[in-house]
Amino acid sequence: MSDNSSYVQFIEIWSLIMVYGAVALLFIAMAVVITHHIKVSSIKDYKLKYEYINKNEIRWYKFTYILIGIAVAFICNTYSNETVMLNYAWFFVRFFIAMCIGTLVGYVSILIVKYYYPGKMQKKLDKWRFMPRINPKTGNKMKLLSEEEEDVHLGEGMQAEEEVFSVDYDVWIDEETQDVKIEKYDGYMSALKCGSCGFQTLKVNNEEILEPATEEKDGELLKNYVCSYCKSTRTTAHKISRLSNNDNEEYIRNMVMAGKVSTVARIKIQIISADGDVKSFDFQQIEQAENFLKEYK
Ligand SMILES: [Zn+2]
Repeated sequence: MSDNSSYVQFIEIWSLIMVYGAVALLFIAMAVVITHHIKVSSIKDYKLKYEYINKNEIRWYKFTYILIGIAVAFICNTYSNETVMLNYAWFFVRFFIAMCIGTLVGYVSILIVKYYYPGKMQKKLDKWRFMPRINPKTGNKMKLLSEEEEDVHLGEGMQAEEEVFSVDYDVWIDEETQDVKIEKYDGYMSALKCGSCGFQTLKVNNEEILEPATEEKDGELLKNYVCSYCKSTRTTAHKISRLSNNDNEEYIRNMVMAGKVSTVARIKIQIISADGDVKSFDFQQIEQAENFLKEYK
Protein backbone atom coordinates (compact mmCIF):
# COMPACT_ATOMS: atom_id res chain seq x y z
CA MET A 1 0.00 0.00 0.00
CA SER A 2 2.73 2.46 1.00
CA ASP A 3 4.54 1.34 -2.13
CA ASN A 4 1.62 2.42 -4.29
CA SER A 5 1.16 5.74 -2.53
CA SER A 6 4.76 6.74 -3.21
CA TYR A 7 4.20 5.80 -6.87
CA VAL A 8 1.05 7.97 -6.96
CA GLN A 9 3.05 10.79 -5.41
CA PHE A 10 5.75 10.35 -8.04
CA ILE A 11 3.15 10.57 -10.83
CA GLU A 12 1.73 13.77 -9.35
CA ILE A 13 5.16 15.40 -9.17
CA TRP A 14 6.01 14.08 -12.63
CA SER A 15 2.83 15.68 -14.03
CA LEU A 16 3.69 19.00 -12.47
CA ILE A 17 7.20 18.91 -13.92
CA MET A 18 5.79 18.04 -17.35
CA VAL A 19 3.21 20.84 -17.29
CA TYR A 20 5.66 23.49 -16.09
CA GLY A 21 8.31 22.17 -18.46
CA ALA A 22 5.94 22.37 -21.44
CA VAL A 23 4.91 25.91 -20.53
CA ALA A 24 8.56 26.93 -20.13
CA LEU A 25 9.52 25.38 -23.49
CA LEU A 26 6.64 27.06 -25.32
CA PHE A 27 7.57 30.32 -23.66
CA ILE A 28 11.20 29.97 -24.81
CA ALA A 29 10.02 29.03 -28.33
CA MET A 30 7.89 32.17 -28.47
CA ALA A 31 10.72 34.30 -27.10
CA VAL A 32 13.09 32.96 -29.78
CA VAL A 33 10.69 33.88 -32.60
CA ILE A 34 9.91 37.31 -31.14
CA THR A 35 13.60 38.06 -30.55
CA HIS A 36 14.39 37.06 -34.12
CA HIS A 37 11.73 39.39 -35.51
CA ILE A 38 12.84 42.27 -33.29
CA LYS A 39 16.40 41.74 -34.46
CA VAL A 40 15.32 41.70 -38.12
CA SER A 41 13.31 44.89 -37.83
CA SER A 42 16.11 46.62 -35.92
CA ILE A 43 18.47 46.21 -38.88
CA LYS A 44 17.99 49.28 -41.04
CA ASP A 45 20.27 48.46 -43.96
CA TYR A 46 18.36 46.29 -46.47
CA LYS A 47 21.42 44.33 -47.50
CA LEU A 48 22.36 43.53 -43.88
CA LYS A 49 18.74 42.63 -43.18
CA TYR A 50 18.85 40.25 -46.15
CA GLU A 51 22.02 38.62 -44.87
CA TYR A 52 20.72 38.26 -41.35
CA ILE A 53 17.45 36.60 -42.46
CA ASN A 54 19.27 34.38 -44.92
CA LYS A 55 21.71 33.17 -42.30
CA ASN A 56 19.49 32.84 -39.25
CA GLU A 57 15.79 32.49 -39.96
CA ILE A 58 15.58 28.80 -40.87
CA ARG A 59 17.98 27.88 -38.11
CA TRP A 60 15.88 29.65 -35.45
CA TYR A 61 12.62 28.25 -36.80
CA LYS A 62 14.01 24.71 -36.65
CA PHE A 63 15.16 25.28 -33.08
CA THR A 64 11.67 26.59 -32.22
CA TYR A 65 10.02 23.48 -33.63
CA ILE A 66 12.37 21.20 -31.69
CA LEU A 67 11.27 22.99 -28.52
CA ILE A 68 7.60 22.63 -29.52
CA GLY A 69 8.12 18.91 -30.22
CA ILE A 70 9.60 18.39 -26.76
CA ALA A 71 6.77 20.43 -25.22
CA VAL A 72 4.21 18.19 -26.97
CA ALA A 73 5.98 15.10 -25.57
CA PHE A 74 5.81 16.68 -22.09
CA ILE A 75 2.08 17.36 -22.43
CA CYS A 76 1.42 13.79 -23.62
CA ASN A 77 3.18 12.61 -20.46
CA THR A 78 0.35 14.04 -18.37
CA TYR A 79 -2.41 12.22 -20.25
CA SER A 80 -4.78 9.96 -18.31
CA ASN A 81 -2.98 10.03 -14.94
CA GLU A 82 -5.74 7.89 -13.35
CA THR A 83 -4.88 4.92 -15.58
CA VAL A 84 -1.14 5.41 -15.17
CA MET A 85 -1.54 5.41 -11.36
CA LEU A 86 -3.10 1.91 -11.49
CA ASN A 87 0.07 0.25 -12.72
CA TYR A 88 3.57 1.54 -13.31
CA ALA A 89 3.73 -0.32 -16.65
CA TRP A 90 1.33 2.30 -18.00
CA PHE A 91 3.86 4.96 -17.12
CA PHE A 92 6.36 3.48 -19.54
CA VAL A 93 3.74 2.90 -22.24
CA ARG A 94 2.66 6.53 -21.99
CA PHE A 95 6.26 7.72 -21.89
CA PHE A 96 7.07 5.79 -25.07
CA ILE A 97 3.98 7.01 -26.95
CA ALA A 98 4.67 10.60 -25.79
CA MET A 99 8.22 10.40 -27.14
CA CYS A 100 6.89 9.12 -30.46
CA ILE A 101 4.27 11.86 -30.78
CA GLY A 102 6.76 14.56 -29.76
CA THR A 103 9.34 13.29 -32.24
CA LEU A 104 6.73 13.11 -34.99
CA VAL A 105 5.49 16.66 -34.36
CA GLY A 106 9.03 18.03 -34.24
CA TYR A 107 10.17 16.04 -37.25
CA VAL A 108 7.22 16.94 -39.49
CA SER A 109 7.52 20.62 -38.53
CA ILE A 110 11.23 20.62 -39.32
CA LEU A 111 10.53 18.98 -42.69
CA ILE A 112 8.07 21.76 -43.47
CA VAL A 113 10.63 24.38 -42.48
CA LYS A 114 13.29 22.65 -44.54
CA TYR A 115 11.35 22.02 -47.75
CA TYR A 116 8.39 24.36 -47.83
CA TYR A 117 9.65 27.41 -45.99
CA PRO A 118 12.70 28.29 -48.15
CA GLY A 119 10.38 29.23 -51.03
CA LYS A 120 8.45 31.54 -48.77
CA MET A 121 11.61 32.97 -47.27
CA GLN A 122 12.98 33.63 -50.75
CA LYS A 123 10.09 36.03 -51.37
CA LYS A 124 10.97 37.83 -48.17
CA LEU A 125 14.65 37.96 -49.16
CA ASP A 126 13.77 39.24 -52.65
CA LYS A 127 11.72 41.99 -51.08
CA TRP A 128 14.75 43.32 -49.22
CA ARG A 129 17.16 42.66 -52.05
CA PHE A 130 15.13 44.62 -54.59
CA MET A 131 13.78 47.34 -52.31
CA PRO A 132 15.03 50.60 -53.89
CA ARG A 133 18.23 51.77 -52.20
CA ILE A 134 18.55 55.36 -51.08
CA ASN A 135 21.65 57.32 -51.93
CA PRO A 136 22.89 58.52 -48.51
CA LYS A 137 24.46 61.61 -50.11
CA THR A 138 21.42 62.92 -51.96
CA GLY A 139 18.47 61.02 -50.49
CA ASN A 140 17.52 60.00 -54.04
CA LYS A 141 16.02 56.63 -54.82
CA MET A 142 18.55 54.53 -56.72
CA LYS A 143 17.80 52.32 -59.70
CA LEU A 144 18.86 48.68 -60.01
CA LEU A 145 20.67 48.06 -63.27
CA SER A 146 19.85 45.02 -65.38
CA GLU A 147 22.43 42.30 -66.06
CA GLU A 148 23.38 43.94 -69.39
CA GLU A 149 23.64 47.46 -67.96
CA GLU A 150 25.61 46.56 -64.85
CA ASP A 151 28.73 45.16 -66.56
CA VAL A 152 30.31 48.59 -67.20
CA HIS A 153 30.41 49.15 -63.46
CA LEU A 154 31.95 45.77 -62.64
CA GLY A 155 35.63 44.99 -62.96
CA GLU A 156 36.77 42.09 -65.13
CA GLY A 157 37.28 39.82 -62.11
CA MET A 158 33.79 40.58 -60.87
CA GLN A 159 32.35 39.81 -64.29
CA ALA A 160 34.29 36.52 -64.29
CA GLU A 161 32.71 35.69 -60.94
CA GLU A 162 29.26 36.40 -62.37
CA GLU A 163 29.99 34.23 -65.39
CA VAL A 164 30.68 31.19 -63.24
CA PHE A 165 27.69 32.10 -61.03
CA SER A 166 29.75 32.06 -57.84
CA VAL A 167 28.88 35.65 -57.01
CA ASP A 168 25.96 37.80 -58.06
CA TYR A 169 26.49 41.55 -58.03
CA ASP A 170 23.65 44.06 -57.86
CA VAL A 171 24.53 47.51 -59.15
CA TRP A 172 22.40 50.42 -57.94
CA ILE A 173 22.75 53.81 -59.56
CA ASP A 174 21.62 57.30 -58.64
CA GLU A 175 20.53 58.52 -62.05
CA GLU A 176 20.98 62.17 -61.08
CA THR A 177 24.53 62.03 -59.72
CA GLN A 178 25.67 58.69 -61.26
CA ASP A 179 26.69 57.49 -57.78
CA VAL A 180 26.97 53.70 -57.79
CA LYS A 181 26.43 51.19 -55.02
CA ILE A 182 27.55 47.60 -55.64
CA GLU A 183 26.19 44.79 -53.49
CA LYS A 184 27.63 41.31 -53.42
CA TYR A 185 25.41 38.23 -53.08
CA ASP A 186 26.20 34.54 -53.06
CA GLY A 187 25.77 33.06 -56.50
CA TYR A 188 23.96 29.85 -57.28
CA MET A 189 27.12 27.81 -57.50
CA SER A 190 30.19 27.53 -55.38
CA ALA A 191 33.64 28.39 -56.61
CA LEU A 192 36.74 28.64 -54.49
CA LYS A 193 38.62 31.86 -53.94
CA CYS A 194 41.61 31.93 -56.27
CA GLY A 195 44.92 32.23 -54.46
CA SER A 196 46.44 34.31 -57.28
CA CYS A 197 43.80 36.88 -58.25
CA GLY A 198 41.61 36.70 -55.16
CA PHE A 199 38.32 36.35 -57.05
CA GLN A 200 35.84 33.56 -56.42
CA THR A 201 36.52 31.97 -59.79
CA LEU A 202 38.45 28.79 -59.01
CA LYS A 203 36.48 25.85 -60.36
CA VAL A 204 37.07 22.14 -60.88
CA ASN A 205 38.36 21.60 -64.39
CA ASN A 206 38.69 17.83 -64.27
CA GLU A 207 38.95 15.00 -61.81
CA GLU A 208 41.27 12.01 -61.82
CA ILE A 209 40.51 8.91 -59.85
CA LEU A 210 43.81 7.64 -58.42
CA GLU A 211 42.22 4.79 -56.61
CA PRO A 212 38.58 3.82 -56.99
CA ALA A 213 36.53 3.34 -53.84
CA THR A 214 35.47 -0.18 -53.03
CA GLU A 215 32.96 -1.45 -50.53
CA GLU A 216 35.86 -2.16 -48.14
CA LYS A 217 37.89 1.03 -48.36
CA ASP A 218 37.89 4.66 -49.42
CA GLY A 219 39.33 5.70 -52.74
CA GLU A 220 41.34 8.74 -53.73
CA LEU A 221 40.56 11.47 -56.18
CA LEU A 222 42.60 14.34 -57.59
CA LYS A 223 40.75 17.53 -58.41
CA ASN A 224 42.36 19.91 -60.85
CA TYR A 225 41.15 23.46 -60.46
CA VAL A 226 41.49 26.29 -62.94
CA CYS A 227 40.73 29.92 -62.24
CA SER A 228 38.37 31.11 -64.98
CA TYR A 229 39.72 34.65 -64.60
CA CYS A 230 43.53 34.47 -64.25
CA LYS A 231 43.90 30.84 -65.45
CA SER A 232 46.10 29.78 -62.54
CA THR A 233 45.73 26.15 -61.51
CA ARG A 234 45.63 24.14 -58.33
CA THR A 235 45.41 20.43 -57.55
CA THR A 236 44.05 18.86 -54.38
CA ALA A 237 43.58 15.27 -53.24
CA HIS A 238 40.22 14.11 -51.95
CA LYS A 239 38.86 11.00 -50.35
CA ILE A 240 36.09 9.09 -52.13
CA SER A 241 33.87 7.59 -49.48
CA ARG A 242 33.01 3.94 -49.62
CA LEU A 243 29.37 4.28 -50.53
CA SER A 244 29.19 6.39 -53.64
CA ASN A 245 26.34 8.84 -54.05
CA ASN A 246 23.96 8.95 -56.95
CA ASP A 247 25.03 11.21 -59.72
CA ASN A 248 22.09 13.24 -60.85
CA GLU A 249 23.79 15.52 -63.32
CA GLU A 250 22.42 13.91 -66.45
CA TYR A 251 18.99 13.78 -64.96
CA ILE A 252 19.13 17.44 -63.96
CA ARG A 253 20.34 18.52 -67.37
CA ASN A 254 17.58 16.61 -69.10
CA MET A 255 14.99 17.80 -66.68
CA VAL A 256 15.64 21.49 -67.06
CA MET A 257 14.29 23.24 -70.09
CA ALA A 258 15.25 26.70 -71.19
CA GLY A 259 12.50 27.47 -73.66
CA LYS A 260 13.23 29.50 -76.80
CA VAL A 261 10.46 32.00 -76.27
CA SER A 262 10.68 35.46 -77.80
CA THR A 263 9.67 37.44 -74.71
CA VAL A 264 11.00 36.08 -71.47
CA ALA A 265 10.67 38.09 -68.31
CA ARG A 266 12.28 35.61 -65.96
CA ILE A 267 13.48 32.04 -66.06
CA LYS A 268 13.16 29.86 -63.03
CA ILE A 269 15.10 26.63 -62.73
CA GLN A 270 14.27 24.29 -59.91
CA ILE A 271 16.65 21.48 -59.08
CA ILE A 272 15.54 18.74 -56.76
CA SER A 273 18.29 16.50 -55.46
CA ALA A 274 17.96 12.81 -54.64
CA ASP A 275 17.53 13.52 -50.95
CA GLY A 276 14.70 15.93 -51.64
CA ASP A 277 16.59 19.22 -51.33
CA VAL A 278 14.94 21.83 -53.53
CA LYS A 279 16.96 24.67 -54.98
CA SER A 280 15.48 27.44 -57.10
CA PHE A 281 17.41 29.67 -59.44
CA ASP A 282 16.16 32.81 -61.14
CA PHE A 283 17.54 34.28 -64.33
CA GLN A 284 16.72 37.31 -66.42
CA GLN A 285 17.98 35.94 -69.72
CA ILE A 286 17.84 32.57 -71.48
CA GLU A 287 21.55 32.83 -72.19
CA GLN A 288 22.31 33.11 -68.48
CA ALA A 289 20.19 30.07 -67.72
CA GLU A 290 21.97 28.10 -70.41
CA ASN A 291 25.39 29.12 -69.10
CA PHE A 292 24.27 28.15 -65.64
CA LEU A 293 23.36 24.67 -66.83
CA LYS A 294 26.73 24.35 -68.53
CA GLU A 295 28.45 25.32 -65.29
CA TYR A 296 26.29 23.04 -63.21
CA LYS A 297 28.58 20.09 -62.69
ZN1 LIG B 1 42.57 33.70 -60.36
